[in-house]
Amino acid sequence: MTKKIKTTIAGSLPKPAWLAEPEKLWAPWQLQGEALAQAKHDAMRLAVDDQLKAGITIIGDGEQTRQHFVTTFIESLGGVDFVNRKTIRIRNRYDASVPVLVDKVVRGKPLFVEDAKKLRTLTKGPIKFTLPGPMTMIDTIYDDYYHSREKLAWAFAEILNEEAKDLAAAGVDVIQFDEPAFNVFFDDVRDWGVKTLERAALGLNCKTAVHICYGYGIEANIKWKESLGQEWRQYESVFPLLAQSSIQQVSLECQNSRVPMELISLLKGKDVLVGAIDVANHQIETPEQVANVLRQAMKYADIEHIHGCTNCGMVPLPREIATAKLQALVAGAELLNKELT
Ligand SMILES: [Zn+2]
Repeated sequence: MTKKIKTTIAGSLPKPAWLAEPEKLWAPWQLQGEALAQAKHDAMRLAVDDQLKAGITIIGDGEQTRQHFVTTFIESLGGVDFVNRKTIRIRNRYDASVPVLVDKVVRGKPLFVEDAKKLRTLTKGPIKFTLPGPMTMIDTIYDDYYHSREKLAWAFAEILNEEAKDLAAAGVDVIQFDEPAFNVFFDDVRDWGVKTLERAALGLNCKTAVHICYGYGIEANIKWKESLGQEWRQYESVFPLLAQSSIQQVSLECQNSRVPMELISLLKGKDVLVGAIDVANHQIETPEQVANVLRQAMKYADIEHIHGCTNCGMVPLPREIATAKLQALVAGAELLNKELT
């Protein structure tokens, strides 16, 4: 059988304007109660439909039921005070008002399992679900209980693992933990970041992935990237640790990034989700541009380990741009697949 490059998305897709204000992170919902619940699931159907029509191989829910990939998870937990919020600086880049942890953190009930079951009904093909990683979660809350980033990360890892097991039982084929914080706190990643990630993924009977990016295409991240110099070698310290870990897939940012492609060779044996779509601009990649990035990746990883992916979530983009980028991703992968047959 001919080997083919598969395609998937990093996570979020834009929401319809009737569900949440477009092109905005943390956009408030436009509806409430039962109408909101139905609208979220309708939006998920559309997000799945866009991916299926484009020809994406591994389908996500586009995170249509969540306001934000981290805060929505945190809002479901016990031990957290949402009223008396504090402003903190996130990954040294921007200020955000975050909830305060005042007691032992607990997971009261499954959070995304109903969403995963719904997603499972929308396609017979493989499906993927994203969760925040432990280190990225601790970065989006003010800790007034554990007073230790590491202890809190372990506590979140246990909770994430419970959720992930429920998602896998609902028929999810790939669970991805999002860890943009891995690109910032290198000593913590080495000392306990990868270990807590593995704890979150412990005993899962589905594929496990980690997404490490340079952030959504928002102003603060674009400015940060400009400060990183000609070559972005952040992955260089993290990838060898992940290569040794139990995590099976690594999603990284490549299109229009200054990441040297040879860093992929540090991920020997892992599936590499190659970011071939820039989420920080409105230009639609040509199939050739997508194929070029994937071709570069093929120098450093076996083709069966390469997936074409987006650099990051596309929630801040206009919907029609994101849909066109999905189509470009598949067209690029197909171009390459034709060359390989
Ligand atoms: Zn990302």
